[in-house]
Amino acid sequence: MGKLDGRVVIITGAARGQGEQEARLFAAEGARVVVADVLDDQGEALAKEIGARYVHLDVGREDDWRAAVTAAQDAYGRIDGLVNNAGILRFNSLLDTPLDEFMRVVQVNQVGCFLGIRAVAPGMADGGTIVNTASYTGLTGMAAVGAYAASKHAVVGLTRVAALELAGRGIRVNAVCPGAIDTAMSNPARLDPSADTEEAARGLDRLYRKLVPLGRVGRPDEVARLALFLSCDDSSYITGQPFVIDGGWLAGVSVI
Ligand code: NAD
Repeated sequence: MGKLDGRVVIITGAARGQGEQEARLFAAEGARVVVADVLDDQGEALAKEIGARYVHLDVGREDDWRAAVTAAQDAYGRIDGLVNNAGILRFNSLLDTPLDEFMRVVQVNQVGCFLGIRAVAPGMADGGTIVNTASYTGLTGMAAVGAYAASKHAVVGLTRVAALELAGRGIRVNAVCPGAIDTAMSNPARLDPSADTEEAARGLDRLYRKLVPLGRVGRPDEVARLALFLSCDDSSYITGQPFVIDGGWLAGVSVI
């Protein structure tokens, strides 16, 4: 028996990275998955491989959400889960961040989450689950990612409010807060077909050996397992919480 047998779950930003691993794991655990992304070719190919549905969904657009919910309902007749995973990162000092860059990050990371909850929750089956993807930087600061950190702090706040407002229907809402995870976001070499991605991963490990107590970068399948826990009955009494998955990075600093 799978942990998600019979459940229908929409996963945003699922064409690659953490969302892809979530889609693969959820499908393997018996879920009927809706792979949603703006990367149509990759998303279609993944959906075909794992027996899922693909929908084009820009999470910052209300119309796209309406169409995605309709497509999921038409295909499967119900929605039990949502993983708001889509996100973007921009590096800039706050003083150098143009307003349109700040707003673009907020539109995808923060507004995308809000629109997802608002579009999906009304028709979601009672007892459903929502997992929002915040970040380590949703709970602490990091220089040069001001727009991103602000948007991820907002995702933690949205998670808590949604948990309170939806608890009466048994809908649980939690957030995952990953530290550094080896996807294209942290390791752009993964987007360069000519790059040695394994060497890039070793480079990330060398960097994070100094910063992260467990001494390595995280893997997207590790985040997927946390999202699964929060989307199945194993977490039946947990709602409104941010879950840090960062190899101990947020625990503090070591002085010896
Ligand atoms: P990624 O860049 O590989 O994946 C992000 C996915 O989101 C891509 O498939 C992309 O096409 C999709 N996306 C971007 N904008 C979109 C939009 N407007 N609508 C729909 N889809 C959109 O990176 P990832 O690491 O897999 O990121 C997944 C989530 O994890 C993001 O929310 C990110 O902020 C968060 N996160 C990542 C890290 C990390 O170190 N990789 C750390 C903390 C949090």
